[in-house]
Amino acid sequence: MVLQKRQLVKNWKVNKEMKYQECISVSLVSSLTISCKATFSASVGEIFLPLTSESDGEKDQRFIRRRLYMMEYDKIMEDLICTGCKLCGFPMNMEERNVFGQIRVSLYCQKSSSRLHTLCLIYRKFMLYVWDESECIPLLVTNNCAEILFGNITAEQVYTCYRDEKIQSSNGRNSDDGTSTHAKASKGGESSDGTPSDQEVNQRLNNIKQGERTDFYKIWVILLKMLLRHESNSPLKFTVNVNSELSQENGRFELIGMTMPCV
Ligand SMILES: [Zn+2]
Repeated sequence: MVLQKRQLVKNWKVNKEMKYQECISVSLVSSLTISCKATFSASVGEIFLPLTSESDGEKDQRFIRRRLYMMEYDKIMEDLICTGCKLCGFPMNMEERNVFGQIRVSLYCQKSSSRLHTLCLIYRKFMLYVWDESECIPLLVTNNCAEILFGNITAEQVYTCYRDEKIQSSNGRNSDDGTSTHAKASKGGESSDGTPSDQEVNQRLNNIKQGERTDFYKIWVILLKMLLRHESNSPLKFTVNVNSELSQENGRFELIGMTMPCV
């Protein structure tokens, strides 16, 4: 009898189907009191980076739109991209803190069945402030949705192009020094009969190859600037997971999808 009454203990979670709400304004999303999925239209206002040990004491540095006017593209990229888990978006090279500055450490991956993090370069979690005439709310954006926001360009692609450009410009400076010495002897890289030297041919071939390669870093900077241009952008359609147990600043609304409305 005792056995019959005892409840079976489950060691797995049953995925509950979440309610779906289509909201006509941001204030309606903000007033949702249950955990659900919600879709709504809003304009992008600002990207805000939560506290890290590196950005402590520099509150202004955490507003990306302001920094775009100062053309700090390299520093913005270094702040937005870090080593972390591709699945759950947890950063590995710094301590993650919540909005109150408390350190949070995640040893296990919440989004992997093996509980192991999958490390690579990722977009660090950030808050995307969206608004309409009724209200402004922050959406938590993790790596996978940041990729959607940045035209499916991965953090790995942005960083690799940025790094290669730095290496090439540094090599270019070094080879310029070498060429200038060479030029004195052979008229700017050409041999005595006027044909280009092997070194000159290789340099030209490299330039052609560089021209053919897509520069994801520059495209990403342009997309970032366009995304944060208030004046001429139409509202975007967002889908979020609403977690009623969290405050807005700690990820109550997590972005899970974004589409551009057809004009
Ligand atoms: Zn993970």
